[in-house]
Amino acid sequence: NNPVKNLLVTGGAGFIGSHVIRRLVNKYPGYQIFNLDALTYAGNLENLVDIESKENYTFLKGSITDEAYIDTIFTEHKFEGIIHLAAESHVDRSITDPLAFAKTNILGTMILLNAFRALWKDNWHGKRFYHISTDEVYGSLGETGLFEETTPYDPNSPYSASKASSDHFVRAYGETYNLPYVITNCSNNYGANQFPEKLIPLFINNIIHNKPLPVYGDGNYTRDWLYVIDHAIAIDLVFHKGRDNETYNIGGFNEWKNIDLVKLLCSHMDEKLGRKKGSSEKLITYVKDRPGHDLRYAIDASKINRELGWNPTVTFEEGLSKTIDWYLANEEWLGNVTSGTYQEYYQLQYK
Ligand code: NAD
Repeated sequence: NNPVKNLLVTGGAGFIGSHVIRRLVNKYPGYQIFNLDALTYAGNLENLVDIESKENYTFLKGSITDEAYIDTIFTEHKFEGIIHLAAESHVDRSITDPLAFAKTNILGTMILLNAFRALWKDNWHGKRFYHISTDEVYGSLGETGLFEETTPYDPNSPYSASKASSDHFVRAYGETYNLPYVITNCSNNYGANQFPEKLIPLFINNIIHNKPLPVYGDGNYTRDWLYVIDHAIAIDLVFHKGRDNETYNIGGFNEWKNIDLVKLLCSHMDEKLGRKKGSSEKLITYVKDRPGHDLRYAIDASKINRELGWNPTVTFEEGLSKTIDWYLANEEWLGNVTSGTYQEYYQLQYK
């Protein structure tokens, strides 16, 4: 029931964005799907080689912080829907360079909101701005409880503060200018194409190369994990069927303490690499805790389940196994993204 023709996806060359683009391009041949991406260290067009020549797909290289460029493409292509994923996304980097996160995540989102508003003024029928956000905006949980859509925001890292702020601006544009929006707050994703600075691909890569596995603090931090394809399915569903001006939480009903997750990953890796049982676990090293580290995140995803019938389709065992297989089959991809500046980042982060 959403007559979108020109759809803008931002950050489509990144991890989650590439899975979203692939799904939309293949599923909706009648749409024109534009992928706007600045191709930062996290953006990689290799993630999209299988769909790049499709007629309903166009890549636009540019930054969401470049106001003049954004105005030009909005005027030219008259986007009716926006799925906004472009962001600086790594908590550790936000601790080193918080301002970069404010620029991209807050100002970039505002620049998109302004351009959308200027394009449609009060003609909002059938238009929608969809902001992809994180459960980290809710802060930290104790041993029990779940984040609900009504949980007050309480961000602790510069990353989550920037995402919380951009969520607030999206909501404020809805209230103030009647701009129709939807927001989803999702837990940790894992799967193919994730940059190896995030836990699962970082550790897969380190195990392959027999490098230490840096576990923060005592390893008892707890996160909920969702297979990226299930997130892409949810995004498609919310974009088309979600109610205007609503927030939906998305999660995997799949909580893991970091240390247990790492041990599970190690045992899978031993098996897949044909190494002696227990050899990957020997690489675990506990490192100094991340400042402001949230103890536990867990999501109540019952609203999206109740209203839109969404549920994860892939179990964690299955998803983790597929993910490892993908990285082992794509060592060239891994080699390319971990050369050059990645090495400098790595030295700095884990010195
Ligand atoms: P990612 O870092 O893999 O990709 C981000 C993409 O945005 C990259 O392609 C990058 O080139 C692009 N980008 C960065 N700055 C840009 C700019 N100024 N202009 C245009 N493009 C720019 O991130 P991801 O993990 O795929 O996350 C995507 C979105 O989902 C983010 O908004 C993130 O906050 C959110 N999210 C991520 C997770 C997760 O577990 N990864 C969970 C919940 C929400």
